[in-house]
Formats: sequence, structure tokens, C-alpha cells
Amino acid sequence: MNIILLGPPGAGKGTQARRLVEERNMVQLSTGDMLRAARTSGTEMGRRVAEVMDRGELVTDEIVIGLIREQLLAGGEHGGFIFDGFPRTLAQADALGELLGEIGATLHHVIELQVNDDVLVERILGRAADSVAAGGQARADDNADSLRTRLLAYYKQTSPLVGYYYAKGNLKTVDGLASMDDVAQSIADAIG
Ligand code: AMP
Repeated sequence: MNIILLGPPGAGKGTQARRLVEERNMVQLSTGDMLRAARTSGTEMGRRVAEVMDRGELVTDEIVIGLIREQLLAGGEHGGFIFDGFPRTLAQADALGELLGEIGATLHHVIELQVNDDVLVERILGRAADSVAAGGQARADDNADSLRTRLLAYYKQTSPLVGYYYAKGNLKTVDGLASMDDVAQSIADAIG
């Protein structure tokens, strides 16, 4: 089973994806994680994406589609893919459909995690403060300026995917503001 977790930054996509990995042996494909790995690798691509990410803007479709393509073609035995933070544009959504077609797979469900924007902002800025309090480092893009840009990118470029997948008949909407366990249960109910 292949699913997309769709929702703005801070909606809980990563948390829920990690649960599905544990419970269903699925593979989490987070383009955000892949890009964070790329930026620390000292590669040319890493240098190019770091600046864009820190501003909170989207990196090019070409780069993220390339990353996803590599993972999809890697093969292996598992319970399916969870796309977390991908696709984020209509071009990426079209590309994903084509890539899945190439490997003979289909997209089963798109789960939209719906959240209130005020709560989102609190969550993300809280996540940054928690990391620092725990002696770690906050994500470079978890600050107020970058967050505003990330939210704008979501509403301008990614939110049209809600309509796109509704029209394709894949969309299920879940209340992302419920407790972590309740969100996990709603997702389980939605995907069966
Ligand atoms: P995330 O961890 O999903 O919040 O992603 C962190 C950052 O990585 C985003 O703000 C973008 O700069 C970049 N990014 C992640 N996924 C994508 C994507 N599918 N398309 C474009 N940029 C992305």
C-alpha cells in the first residue's frame, strides 16, 4: 500500500509516518530528510539546496523528483511507501503518478492532516525551543521568518494538491489536531 501524508509544516506528517513504519513495515520517503542529508554531504546539490531550505522556499521539482525516483527504483521487500513532504507541487504530483506507473505500483490513499494555522505556528516554534532546551540544535528553518515563507509555500504551491487528489478520488481528511494516538487511529481507519 502506498500513501501520501499531506499537510502544512508542523501538521505531524513525520511523526505519523514513523508510526506507520514501525506498525506496518512501510518505508518512509521524506524529501525533507533526504535534502537535510544532502546538505551535510558537502555535495554541489547540498550547497544549492541549503540556502533555499533555510529561507523556507521549495527546492526545484527536478531535484526532489530525482531523489524520489532513486528510492522508488531501489526495490526491496516492504509494506509500501509513505510519501512524507512529497509531492509539494502539481508537477511533483504528476511525476509521482508516472514514477509509480513505471514500477507497476499505484497510489492508494492521500491523507490530509488538517490543522489550525495558529496551532501550527505554536507547534513549530515550540519544536525549535524544545530542541534547544534539550541541548540540541533547532532546525535551521524552524524560525518565525522561515516559517511564514514555508506556510506561504504550502498555501500557494502545495494546497492545490488537496483538490487534485480529491478529484482523483484518493483523498481522506483527518483531524491533525487530535492527540498523536487519535490521529494514528484515524489514519488507520482511513487506510484500512
Ligand atoms: P520538511 O522537512 O518536509 O518540512 O522539508 C524541509 C524543507 O525541505 C522545505 O521547507 C523545502 O525547502 C524542502 N523540501 C522538502 N520536500 C520538498 C519538496 N517535495 N519539494 C520542494 N522542496 C522540498
